[in-house]
Amino acid sequence: MKKISLFLFSFLTISYFTYGQELSYYLPDSVTYNAAIPTPESVLGHKVGEWHATHDKLVNYMQVLAKSSDRIKYEPMGKTYEARQQLVLVITSPKNQANLEQIRQQHLDLSNPAKSASVNVDNMPLVVWMGYTIHGNEPSGVNAAILAAYYLASAQGKQIDELLENTVIVLDPCLNPDGMTRFATWANMHKSKNLVTDPQSREFSEVWPGGRYNHYWFDMNRDWLPAQHIESQNRLKKFHEWRPNILTDHHEMGTNSTFFFQPGVPSRTNPLTPAKNIELTTKIGNYHANFLDRIGSLYFTKENFDDFYYGKGSTYPDIHGAIGILFEQGSSRGHAQESINGIVTFPFTIRNQFTTSLSSLEAGKNLRKELLNYQKEFYQSAIQTANSSPIKGYVFGDKNDKAKTYHFLEMVERHQIEIYELKGKLTIDNQEFESGSAYVIPANQPQHRLITTIFQKETKFKDSLFYDVSAWTMPLAFGLPYGEIKTLNNTILGNKISKVSLAVGELVGGKSEYAYALEWDEYYAPKVLLALQNSGLITKVATEPFEISTANGATKFDYGTIIIPAKNQSKSTDEIYQLLKKEVETNGLKAYALKTGLVLNGVDLGSSSFSVLEKPKVAMVVGSGVNPMDAGEIWHLADQRFAMPLSQLDINNFNNANLEKYNTLILVSGSYNALNKDKIKTWVQNGGSLILIESAIQWGTANGLMNVTYKKPKAKADSTAIMPYSSMDNITGAQEIGGSIFQAKVDLTHPLMYGYNSSYMSFFKANSVFMQKNTNPYSSPAQYTSNPLQSGYISKENADMIRNAAVVNVNTVGRGRIISIDNNPNFRAFWYSGTKLLMNALFFSKVIDAGSAR
Ligand SMILES: [Zn+2]
Repeated sequence: MKKISLFLFSFLTISYFTYGQELSYYLPDSVTYNAAIPTPESVLGHKVGEWHATHDKLVNYMQVLAKSSDRIKYEPMGKTYEARQQLVLVITSPKNQANLEQIRQQHLDLSNPAKSASVNVDNMPLVVWMGYTIHGNEPSGVNAAILAAYYLASAQGKQIDELLENTVIVLDPCLNPDGMTRFATWANMHKSKNLVTDPQSREFSEVWPGGRYNHYWFDMNRDWLPAQHIESQNRLKKFHEWRPNILTDHHEMGTNSTFFFQPGVPSRTNPLTPAKNIELTTKIGNYHANFLDRIGSLYFTKENFDDFYYGKGSTYPDIHGAIGILFEQGSSRGHAQESINGIVTFPFTIRNQFTTSLSSLEAGKNLRKELLNYQKEFYQSAIQTANSSPIKGYVFGDKNDKAKTYHFLEMVERHQIEIYELKGKLTIDNQEFESGSAYVIPANQPQHRLITTIFQKETKFKDSLFYDVSAWTMPLAFGLPYGEIKTLNNTILGNKISKVSLAVGELVGGKSEYAYALEWDEYYAPKVLLALQNSGLITKVATEPFEISTANGATKFDYGTIIIPAKNQSKSTDEIYQLLKKEVETNGLKAYALKTGLVLNGVDLGSSSFSVLEKPKVAMVVGSGVNPMDAGEIWHLADQRFAMPLSQLDINNFNNANLEKYNTLILVSGSYNALNKDKIKTWVQNGGSLILIESAIQWGTANGLMNVTYKKPKAKADSTAIMPYSSMDNITGAQEIGGSIFQAKVDLTHPLMYGYNSSYMSFFKANSVFMQKNTNPYSSPAQYTSNPLQSGYISKENADMIRNAAVVNVNTVGRGRIISIDNNPNFRAFWYSGTKLLMNALFFSKVIDAGSAR
């Protein structure tokens, strides 16, 4: 009897898996399909859900569908870092296809309050953006997109005709092609002919960094607002071409979970999102519930997830008069995996995503007019809100850093925000802004709410739990001086900027036979220094300020100015001039030809106060246990922005690696128990610079590498108190620092702070490493103020801990230095403010006087 039931079980299991891959398993059976449209299997070479579709096959199928159907237009968006095609299919009725451009223009009028009053939505199609798998290892989305595209191309009958007549669908089948490819390869290469469902099997645990991330290990579902990556930049262009009314965002979560659709936790919705958004999300949710009920799938709503941070795919649409919808499917991760809810098969997960794709379209069709009117009202009310606000605009700009200002403008421009030049001079809060280096964004424009979230500081919240960060005030992140304008008129507002560009740099005074001085304030100064070092030139850094004659007259130079002697170099004075001119001009820098070594004030050029620099040879530990995002941020920074080679030392091979090849080693947050600490200590003692970031500092102190002490909480929790069990999640969650912005006072004379001009800086902190200042008063060049919170949430307990804590500590170990940075200076690649700190650590750690850093 026992034998028979076992036999029956395995028979059922196998047939269930196979059954799960037929088209009939996924598609509604009430519909007939056009046999002239190629099925996924006929092009992919396998059934949907049988294998993980690879990206090249996906692109091929999308092209085939576009060729076979007059409902579909294929639109390329650009390419990823790994040169994969990003694309959308624009799907609508053949009649609409014939008038597509006109439909698009009329649709855009909805988000333009100057035109929208006369727009009649009665016969206007709704625009629905369907987006899948921004996290590459959440594969049910992208594989459901294949089915959705097939369905929309081939379904026949009144229902589909009505849908396509009333809807323009922008189908984005894969938002992260590079990560998705990494994951599909992993899942396919481990698939057994007889599926293995044991969660411990290798199929279900990818190797580091996993497919979630893009090429540089970034979470692309945090980049919609900062838009620092090529994938987001390409997508935003298309998004703003269409300004959809609904945007779907298909994800996966843990295998033991069921299915989630929004609305999320209502109290955690960003207050800038109108209440009507939640109302509409709830109405749409009823359709998902109904469709999932029909196929018997479990789900939940209003828990766990939220719409607070506007950099996520389900939240960014909310600040564009659209409804962003997050879907989360419990993941099979591979092909079929045991869970507490039974075996989760890959086809099952695909079917839920496909089904909610259909429910979204059905909801859109039925709520069409309401959604169109909502978008229209959203933009009309944006203008009204702007008019009643005391803030009429924002002025910003760093006269010492054109490139950073440019990158801010570029980010703002990607969101279709109007920017103007500042006319004349303007002083706000004791900060001076002037024409040429400062810009104005008027608050009164359609993107008013988005502008508000980019500039605002917020420290009061309804809820103390956050799914992601609680603050992202952009000018603080970029380290840009900025101010709120209370009266805006034509004496301030200059020309409108039509296209931002990085100003060309300047080599003042032309060719020199003596030396050049290169200012360190500009963002790309380290890139130019590295180019000079790469060509074998001797370079020095000024550890004292000085004043000297240049073609511009007597000119003051600050700490950190780079000196390049013209003589006694391995290159001719002509070659040096050509190289420096090219580098300075293309990177927006300013350098000066110097004719003499004798200064007007300060130290002469031959003084030992100009320290000879060593070219950074940098390695970073990566691999299992290391935070991939933090490591990826440094890789991306070094590679994309500074053209700096960075060796990635895998944690598993580290103990065999030859460290003598490097003078700088970086450990970002992570767990490093596998590392040979004595090897690192010896390397530092012999002159290496070790940079420890966030939790890596704790590894350093736990292993006796350096002496850093931590702040201790004032009062210990009462161990006798009994708390309501039901309050546990809220109370413990409230102690987490999800990510907030804190102000610190910095010492501009310290080599780690060269190139900064303000004594106060903003740091992004999302951890609970609270360092005491070192006992040596010269070795903590940045320290949080006594009341440092600028924006974001922090509990009272943590606020006590961060008060006056050290941001950076420097310790001398033998001939080497250990630099501990308590926050993430490169957060998500938009924390431009922290870049110089890290670059200073790479270029100047040897310059730090040993006596200052015991
Ligand atoms: Zn996800």
